[in-house]
Amino acid sequence: MKNIIFIAPPAAGKGTQSAILEKKYNLPHISTGDILREEAKKDSELGRYISEVLSSGGLVKDEVTYELLKNRLSQDDCKNGYILDGFPRNIEQAYKYDEILNSLNQELGYVIQLDISEEILEKRITGRRICEDCGSVYNINSDNEKPKQESICDKCNGKLYQRNDDNITSFKNRYNLYIEKTKPLLDYYAKKGILYVINGNDSVEEVSKRIDAVLKKGM
Ligand code: AMP
Repeated sequence: MKNIIFIAPPAAGKGTQSAILEKKYNLPHISTGDILREEAKKDSELGRYISEVLSSGGLVKDEVTYELLKNRLSQDDCKNGYILDGFPRNIEQAYKYDEILNSLNQELGYVIQLDISEEILEKRITGRRICEDCGSVYNINSDNEKPKQESICDKCNGKLYQRNDDNITSFKNRYNLYIEKTKPLLDYYAKKGILYVINGNDSVEEVSKRIDAVLKKGM
């Protein structure tokens, strides 16, 4: 299986779709946001720096992100492909990612853009809740995606939490950053002939089917 990168604004469903693909194709799901959130829990200078940046909605310094990502991609479970979510986020990171791939003898694979309206994203951001134990994602603003019991995970009974940066102010920051810095990457990958644009405005199942159709064609 080839590698898959998702490029999409915050709360477009990258995490949810990655988790589906992870199971279906047995590929590791690598989210730079998750890696950084883990690091931010540590009581160290680096942990405190990352934690501050995460709550502001800004971007963590490139050298920190590169190091953490390269370490993760060098692990054995990535040899037969992986799903990358949250990286690259700007053109410098895209060039750096090309270098990392070269050094690991890997290819870019598929770049999948989830195309989605800002209005839907705002609703998802404010309603998103995540299980602190198993990472399952819910949305209290959607009848199909809310948990059966308030604040409790349907799958493992874990407690649900809201991410620090899932508020409107931080969303606007992250969304503007996406438009300004990340969206231009789409051109970079379109020119390489590996960009697939998926309409992400519909249900999780519908979007998942569209992604599957793309992957099946390229397999
Ligand atoms: P995400 O989970 O992808 O929404 O990322 C959450 C936060 O982690 C972002 O708002 C950034 O602060 C940080 N982050 C994630 N990926 C990157 C990256 N590639 N470069 C810099 N910061 C990142």
